[in-house]
Amino acid sequence: MIYYDKVSKVYPDKTIAVDNVSFGIEPKEFVTIVGQSGAGKTTLMKMLIAEEWPSHGAIFFESANIQRLNKRQMNKLRRRIGMVFQDYRLIPNKTVYENIAFAMEATGKNDREVSSDVPHVLELVDLGHKIWNFPGELSGGEKQRVAIARAIVTQPDIVIADEPTGNLDPTNTYEIIRILQKINELGTTVMLATHNKGVVDTIGGRIITMDKGKVIKDSREGKYIL
Ligand code: ADP
Repeated sequence: MIYYDKVSKVYPDKTIAVDNVSFGIEPKEFVTIVGQSGAGKTTLMKMLIAEEWPSHGAIFFESANIQRLNKRQMNKLRRRIGMVFQDYRLIPNKTVYENIAFAMEATGKNDREVSSDVPHVLELVDLGHKIWNFPGELSGGEKQRVAIARAIVTQPDIVIADEPTGNLDPTNTYEIIRILQKINELGTTVMLATHNKGVVDTIGGRIITMDKGKVIKDSREGKYIL
């Protein structure tokens, strides 16, 4: 589904953020990218959505080289990728409902689809009771659940989550991971980046370890798959 082929990224200041990385991700996989801050995880994800450009190598999405896509094709690809960030990125003066509706409208969904899908997706993240609240009235864990609902409401093929539990306590961290696992069980590919070893231990599954821009380990033998 996704293939990084000998990908390197050197920033203009000569920082080598990603150094000759190759790996593939199959549909419906749950892949965790683990590594210390600065290891290159964010850069790796940004290149998938063409927010950054590889300096060498190529990234393929279903056999299409994403650097060769035109603007229209790139927009189409981006719609197939749901994104979740450490800082939630909710719109503060919109309600939970409006935040999710806004993302749906951007992909061309009509009012009828919005009013039926928003409550449904909020149930999936156990947040139906906060539909009319504003982000400022929610806890960090709840905000991240809204952000996940927003990422999945358009039914993307893959969700990429960059350090989604970075601002959360252990209880909320566990809850967010559980939701990502549930989304994965429902058929969505998940690519999660974290520096938190505790998170990695609870997940199991495939773990790709990065250090100084390189993949130093790609292990499919997670704790629960022995
Ligand atoms: P991680 O997500 O694992 O923390 P990043 O991909 O954010 O790693 O960063 C990898 C390296 O690239 C770090 O050394 C970081 O300082 C550097 N870096 C990230 N973005 C830029 C940028 N826009 N310009 C220069 N260096 C950058």
